[in-house]
Amino acid sequence: MIRESYREMTDVQVAEAIEAARRTLGNDLTILGHHYQRDDVIRHTDFRGDSLELSRQAAEARDARYIVFCGVHFMAETAAILCAPEQTVVQPVLEALCPMAALANVPDTAAAWEALTALWGDDVTPITYQNSVAAVKAFVGQHGGAVCTSSNAARIFRWGLERSGHLLFLPDEHLGTNIALAMGIPPEEIGVWDYADAPDPASLAHCRVVVWKGYCYVHTTMTAEDVARARAQYPGAIVVVHPECPHEVVALADQAGSTRAIIEAVEAAPAGATIVVGTEWHLVNRLAHEHPDKRVVPLRRVGCKTMGMTSARDLLYALEAIIAGTPQNVVRVDADTAHWARVALERMLEASA
Ligand code: SF4
Repeated sequence: MIRESYREMTDVQVAEAIEAARRTLGNDLTILGHHYQRDDVIRHTDFRGDSLELSRQAAEARDARYIVFCGVHFMAETAAILCAPEQTVVQPVLEALCPMAALANVPDTAAAWEALTALWGDDVTPITYQNSVAAVKAFVGQHGGAVCTSSNAARIFRWGLERSGHLLFLPDEHLGTNIALAMGIPPEEIGVWDYADAPDPASLAHCRVVVWKGYCYVHTTMTAEDVARARAQYPGAIVVVHPECPHEVVALADQAGSTRAIIEAVEAAPAGATIVVGTEWHLVNRLAHEHPDKRVVPLRRVGCKTMGMTSARDLLYALEAIIAGTPQNVVRVDADTAHWARVALERMLEASA
């Protein structure tokens, strides 16, 4: 709930009040923001990044008593898991959830795990994408697995395949499939676990990688036809997409990579180049403004509604509540879940260091 009085403030007044609050809190405060956040929020962050960068930042921000996390809930949970007990993590809008993360829960994960370990014994390692709820991360940590992000997924897949002959990857079918294919695993050795209609485990016996049937509704709206249309409209353009896109889109792109890789691809393109970017619109729009010497256009203009839920007024409310000594929207993860999720996250941070 933002204060009614904030609605009467102009955007400039809100921005000035946020900066005043940041000065008041000084080193007690770190504001982290994901690249998909709105511009009126991201301009006030101490650090902006993708999931991996923000995880590292949350783990290293030991001086700050308060970490205000502008992103979706699994990211703020990760910060709460990795920070010290005396630190407080605040998410300005707690209702900002990742719909993909919500597609995997512990009972469904346990059912899949039971079926796959019946098939392969302990010759299988669970890996969960950072975009998953803390309880699923904890399940994975407790069963010998690790978290990964889109930046380090290939490295963590290799880590998993050095430990066992098989992987269970949650919750994004498309990221898991794209990474496995890029590693040279043939399509027939990649199976799909449909949590809503569980397959006969015997039908997966020949697979090395089983991917959860989850998806990001932003990236799966992008199609092969979009790539063809963009190439016709912008001859010579560089097409860069996120690996949460379906494989047929990734296969037609010039490059696929994490938000960090997408930013670097735009930075590396020569002046005058056209770069067609297949990812969340707020980031594409920001890149277009930050690189006026290049033409940066979205493959399809799709914003993530929950990433866009946090406004500058929500951020101001969060900061003023901290100053008043009554932090709101504090993110807490119970000790047992936090312990095992931290195990899975630390395996990722070690393997990707
Ligand atoms: S863009 Fe996709 S993966 Fe990211 S928070 Fe939104 S729904 Fe989740």
